[in-house]
Amino acid sequence: MSFADFPLHNSLLAQLAELKFTKPTEIQTQAIPSILAGKDVLASAQTGTGKTAAFSLPLLHKLLTEPTSVIDSQQPNHQAMPKGLILAPTRELAQQVYQNLLQLQGSAGIRCGLIYGGVSVEQQKAQLQAGVDIIVATPGRLLDLLRQRATQLNQIEYFVIDEADRMLDMGFRDELLALLKRLPKQRQTLLFSATLDDRVFGFSQRFLTQPQVIEA
Ligand code: AMP
Repeated sequence: MSFADFPLHNSLLAQLAELKFTKPTEIQTQAIPSILAGKDVLASAQTGTGKTAAFSLPLLHKLLTEPTSVIDSQQPNHQAMPKGLILAPTRELAQQVYQNLLQLQGSAGIRCGLIYGGVSVEQQKAQLQAGVDIIVATPGRLLDLLRQRATQLNQIEYFVIDEADRMLDMGFRDELLALLKRLPKQRQTLLFSATLDDRVFGFSQRFLTQPQVIEA
């Protein structure tokens, strides 16, 4: 199995070769085809398994093949609303996901915003107001910025909750449900968690529609 077996955009395949990612990992092999087919996914995957690329590559592919965002982004003052939202429980994880997105897209020009608490809101607000295609965020700060009308989630097509079990451990349940209310009903949702116990499974049902369950 190689990445070229997936119908991914050529620029992503070229970038994967550049990064010397020759073989998809187990979670990537299982998740990428389902995600590309538009399905909701509930996946158990630990850190270090390549889960970030498993949810990031299909999102980048989607944005690259829906020409509007990338073409529009080359025009000045373009303020497209974000189409992808990835939530992570901590600043460190959000930063890692953001770095992965930049690495995987190479020079594709997809605009990513990074939002987390504990630092000034002003720069993050400016970033959102300039227009981003993908937001990577921790839940609390994103809610603050939404309440300040710095961005909107009504164009989100692709929604990822990373480390859902840690989200619940850290008490983000209400924030996640508040964010859910701001998302369009028509969207693709992916939920990744190190563990898939009853608590995570039950919570996931608020977000997912007939998910493909993957245990890699
Ligand atoms: P993650 O589990 O998402 O934290 O990824 C762990 C590390 O593996 C990251 O540094 C990725 O850049 C790297 N990685 C992800 N997928 C692959 C792959 N197919 N081949 C080689 N390295 C990879």
